[in-house]
Amino acid sequence: MASVLDKFRLDEQVAVVTGGARGIGLAIATALAEAKAKVVLADLDADTGEASAARLRQQGLEAHFYPLDVTQPAQAEALAQALVERWGRVDVLVNNAGICRNTPALETPDEEWRLVFEVNVHGVFWCSRAFGRRMVAQKRGSIVNIASMSGRIVNKPQPQAAYNASKAAVIHLTKSLAAELAPYGVRVNAISPGYIGTEMTKRGLETPAWRQDWLGLTPMGRLGEPAEVASCALFLASEASSYLTGSELVVDGGYTVW
Ligand code: NDP
Repeated sequence: MASVLDKFRLDEQVAVVTGGARGIGLAIATALAEAKAKVVLADLDADTGEASAARLRQQGLEAHFYPLDVTQPAQAEALAQALVERWGRVDVLVNNAGICRNTPALETPDEEWRLVFEVNVHGVFWCSRAFGRRMVAQKRGSIVNIASMSGRIVNKPQPQAAYNASKAAVIHLTKSLAAELAPYGVRVNAISPGYIGTEMTKRGLETPAWRQDWLGLTPMGRLGEPAEVASCALFLASEASSYLTGSELVVDGGYTVW
């Protein structure tokens, strides 16, 4: 009989991580590849994405870069089709690509508000629709959406109304898709990270007032590592979480306990 550790394995499986070129996405791609999946890093940034995939291959992992702008539904559809043509299956989609803008609400330009929603909400939907169609056809699959604790609380002190609202939408979209796809063997779950050390949080950490609030309000008193989100993503991607759907794992060092 398979041991519990075997349930975390992704042998033969094909896994796609959007925004996989760097940061949390790259850490997730690494974890899925270490679990033996064929991993696709799908990102806007081709130079970083190609270099990251090459580094994973040097470590003996199977990784491939594919260009993708998640705001373009036709690109999401074409990528899903290309992967199914190449490998005959697609098992895991991690909707990780996301952007944040720290602009006071009343000063937010139209285009900035739209862009945050285009990437963070519409991008998650276009990719989930494209890959979900293939997963439903094969009657198996796991979609993991990287939301944020910002979908549940309002961060302090930086303003980011569009980001917060977009991540709340991701959490609810996760539940909606979970309900629709469960009868077809496709699970949909979310991860809501707190502050994690990546490019996204770099500038904030260099701002003393922000750093003080971020760390002071986190009971564990430190930032999370991308790898600490990645292990949760592997859990949700794999059979280890076979009875979870529509769930949200909050990975925030305790930030949302207050
Ligand atoms: P990074 O900015 O380090 O990485 C995001 C990646 O997504 C980049 O490679 C970026 O490429 C890519 N990307 C951006 N827009 C698109 C697009 N339209 N299509 C495809 N790829 C795109 O961010 P993190 O690793 O920190 O964040 C990853 C996810 O985790 C995001 O959804 C974020 O909201 C979420 N998150 C992060 C937290 C944190 O503290 N870091 C906390 C909570 C949630 P490019 O460089 O070309 O823009």
